[in-house]
Amino acid sequence: MIKELKDNFIENGYSVVLVPKFKRFGKKVEGYICQDTLEIYIEKNLPLEERVITLLHELIHDVHEDWSEEKVENEARKIYQNLSDRDLGFLEFLVS
Ligand SMILES: [Zn+2]
Repeated sequence: MIKELKDNFIENGYSVVLVPKFKRFGKKVEGYICQDTLEIYIEKNLPLEERVITLLHELIHDVHEDWSEEKVENEARKIYQNLSDRDLGFLEFLVS
């Protein structure tokens, strides 16, 4: 799963944009992926661990557009718990 997410990120040319607190459709959100501009917005004030999980969450949305919010979040946290040091380092670099 993590390889699929990384490959999708790299092949599509996504970039991560760290932003202050933001709202979307009137609700506070921690992350948002824009397939038109190929940018993934992540709230910069979250702890590092949560920024990585949010990035994983948005990447899962991109690969599994039909998954529910709950399924995406559960999968993101499961992947986070099982990351290799190398993958964790890569993801932390992206959200730093
Ligand atoms: Zn979501």
